[in-house]
Amino acid sequence: MIVEEYDAKTLIRSSKTSLFSWSEAYLNPYQGCYHDCKYCDGKAEGYYMHDDFGERIKVKRNAPQLLEQYLKKQGFFPINREKTSTLVDYFPNLRDSAASKTPEKHLLFIGGGVCDVYQPAEKEVIMTRKLLQIAHDYKMPVSFLTKNNLILRDLDLLKKINEDSYASASFSITLADEETQKIFEPRASTTQERFDAIKKLREKGIHSGVYFYPTLPFIGDTDENMEAIYFQAKEVGAEFIYCWGLTLKPGRNKKEFMNTIKKSFPDLLPKYTKLYGNEDKYGNLDTEVFKEFNLIWPEIRGYKLGYELGLDYTAKRYVPEGRIDFNIKITEILYRIAYLKSFFIKSSKYEINRLNQASVIINSTKEDISKMDEKGLKKIGIDKMTFDYIFEFVEKNESIHLKTLEKEAYESVCRYLESQEQN
Ligand code: SF4
Repeated sequence: MIVEEYDAKTLIRSSKTSLFSWSEAYLNPYQGCYHDCKYCDGKAEGYYMHDDFGERIKVKRNAPQLLEQYLKKQGFFPINREKTSTLVDYFPNLRDSAASKTPEKHLLFIGGGVCDVYQPAEKEVIMTRKLLQIAHDYKMPVSFLTKNNLILRDLDLLKKINEDSYASASFSITLADEETQKIFEPRASTTQERFDAIKKLREKGIHSGVYFYPTLPFIGDTDENMEAIYFQAKEVGAEFIYCWGLTLKPGRNKKEFMNTIKKSFPDLLPKYTKLYGNEDKYGNLDTEVFKEFNLIWPEIRGYKLGYELGLDYTAKRYVPEGRIDFNIKITEILYRIAYLKSFFIKSSKYEINRLNQASVIINSTKEDISKMDEKGLKKIGIDKMTFDYIFEFVEKNESIHLKTLEKEAYESVCRYLESQEQN
């Protein structure tokens, strides 16, 4: 492993929320990932990462300064820091006044950008911890996704942040069998180590779940593998499992994966070659070939398993300080409904788009939409199709609609799986 430091121009990437990530700002101090997973799409040319992605790790040495600049610019103040090098050191009462004027906060995702922030380099570089310390100083809620149990080193900080606001540390887990897992994720923590880490995090009250992504066709989407992962997730107290298939972007990403299949699963090579033979630029598989092979979308099997085990299909949304509680919660409900209707309940694309669009609008609006009537909602661009969901939540502070749809989705996937078995 070669570690190189450099000064970056930028660190923070803003993003819209989605059902599978409630974060609105992403930061990653690393480029390249020593875990070197064979399906890693960080290796795809489109991300402009270097060729030796799995060996040469670049570190943004000025990441802490960039994060502080960003937070200060947003109007935040290091409330938890003992020495701030500001007037507050001389006039301590200013600290309370700064705390009372906190602007709208958002969830910081330390990671993303297709490099794991707890990869082995972090053990020596200790950069992620520095960023976490800053998040703690500024009382910012944080979220992580990793394949390395090194995150447990920072349990003390995660615990403090979670007591102040919210901390979530989830794991990407794809293969239950350790031998197979080591083929595809040679330098990440073992699957067992990751599950053990979830257990420890949950014992400390930290939010944690499993991203069962990517689910490898013919290898990871078997009943045996899927059940083993769902059952163990339940056992260790994971709060949710998000399940998704494999994409292989043409170029480095696909080439490296196919080489691994050729070496370790030669019998599967013709099937994979055909399944991903469409050269889709986003790496999506060929749906016609998918049908021809009688494959089942992992989301479908995953939803059934999760529903039966009482495991949520995504993380619950946290309401950051300064945000409008109702708006944040109703966006979660609308995103969930859109997801169920996209995958498990026959619905029109138009309806799904309207639901997603309403979520985006409500997420960014500065007015409390629970106080709006139909006219007000229409004025800000909310489609009437969503009114029932919104008004029900205003009235009952829960969504019976959503619960009903979740049950309906379960019944629909059961029917589908039965029909597949009979074929
Ligand atoms: S841990 Fe994530 S970023 Fe790192 S190699 Fe694996 S898939 Fe890529």
